[in-house]
Amino acid sequence: MSCLFCKIVEGSIPSTAVYQDELCYAFADMHPQAPVHILVAPRRHIVSLAEAAEADRALLGHLLWAAAQIARAKGLAKGYRVVVNTGQDGGQTVDHLHLHLLGGRPLAWPPG
Ligand code: AMP
Ligand code: ZN
Repeated sequence: MSCLFCKIVEGSIPSTAVYQDELCYAFADMHPQAPVHILVAPRRHIVSLAEAAEADRALLGHLLWAAAQIARAKGLAKGYRVVVNTGQDGGQTVDHLHLHLLGGRPLAWPPG
C-alpha cells in the first residue's frame, strides 16, 4: 500500500495529530498556508471527493463535523475555510480524500 495519507493514518509516517476518532484522522499540514492549517482525512482510503460513493454519505458529513469541532477547539471564532481540492483541475496532489481546515488570518476570495 503506497498511499501517503494511509501511511500517516496508520502511523508508519509521522505526523502531528490534532484530532482522531474511529472514522477520521486530522493532522497538521507540513506546508501550512495559514496559522491554522489542518488536514482531515478518512481512515479508509477514498481517492477523492469525486470517488466517494453513496455509502460514504455519512462519512462525508462526519468529516465536515470533525473540521468544525477542530475549528472550535482552535478558537477560530472569526471564521475559517474548509477546502476539498479534487482531481487535477482542483489542485489535488495527494490521492486520498482530505479536507483542508484553514484559519487564523483573513482568507482572500476568489482562490487562484
Ligand atoms: P492537496 O494538494 O489538496 O492534495 O493537499 C495535500 C496537502 O498535503 C498539501 O497541503 C501538503 O502540504 C500536505 N502534505 C503532503 N505531505 C504531507 C505530510 N507528510 N505531512 C503533512 N502534510 C503533508
Ligand atoms: Zn490512502
